[in-house]
Amino acid sequence: RSGFRKTSERLGDNLSGLVTKAALDEATLDEIEEALIASDLGPSTAARVRARLASERFERGLTDEAVRAVVAEELEKILAPVAEALEIDAFPRPQVILVVGVNGSGKTTTIAKLAHLFMEQDYSVLLAAGDTFRAAAIEQLQIWADRAGVPIIKGPEGSDSSAIVFDGVKKATAEGIDVLIVDTAGRLHNKKDLMDELAKIRRVLGRLNPAAPHDVVLVLDATTGQNALSQIETFREVAGVTGLVMTKLDGTARGGVMVAAAEKYGLPIHAIGVGEGMDDLRPFDPAEVARAIAG
Ligand code: GDP
Repeated sequence: RSGFRKTSERLGDNLSGLVTKAALDEATLDEIEEALIASDLGPSTAARVRARLASERFERGLTDEAVRAVVAEELEKILAPVAEALEIDAFPRPQVILVVGVNGSGKTTTIAKLAHLFMEQDYSVLLAAGDTFRAAAIEQLQIWADRAGVPIIKGPEGSDSSAIVFDGVKKATAEGIDVLIVDTAGRLHNKKDLMDELAKIRRVLGRLNPAAPHDVVLVLDATTGQNALSQIETFREVAGVTGLVMTKLDGTARGGVMVAAAEKYGLPIHAIGVGEGMDDLRPFDPAEVARAIAG
């Protein structure tokens, strides 16, 4: 379970050696609270863990390990309510999943991973290359579609993304495909354009099926730490996000941001990315993540 090695090492480093006295005095509690904040867990989580530690008896002795066990327990309490896998349960089909996020967050890779996951669960999948703004985005999605063995609907660079989505729903409906995963543009620097584009996609989808999109999944690069939180803020506003996938947890010490996100926004975390391959998408397991973060 090396996915969070760096995150847990970091908090582990921050926490270790802090417990040097027989009791947790105010100064030690302050240091622990600071270590938690430095690990991106967010101030309210840190305060909550501190309060819990202050009230704890530590009957088996006050050690780093005992402190970490309490930290893990508290983190799990925050994370458990947001652990929610993406279920394919839309009727009528297809279930339409809009995938949003800034360029570079791992959106394309995550779409491929999700397609692969759903296919392993025996669902049929269609991709729609809705990021028509970048030719490279269309090509990349095509490459992943080929690798995953899923069909793709695409148009030329600069074409109308809502037209691609329209074609996608038509095809999926006609062919009885279970899941339509839609890539979208990630041009956050032009928020108004992005908002208009997503609104248009929603209008087109809504005309075909009032329940669509069923999911709006925001892909977040965990290595951006606190930045990920402001992206949640923005995409909630422009896209009506219904859930999150956190990526690049293999290469970062900043997994703590998941806790901050859970505490602050309470959005479901559907899965986590722990590598660049198709199989590197893991279910979000709150106990595992809490233990890994606490070290
Ligand atoms: P997009 O611009 O948002 O579509 O991002 P891409 O899917 O093209 O990913 C950007 C880069 O991040 C690529 O080099 C991916 O291989 C890499 N990447 C995506 N997800 C992960 C992950 O979970 N772990 C690691 N280590 N790299 C990832």
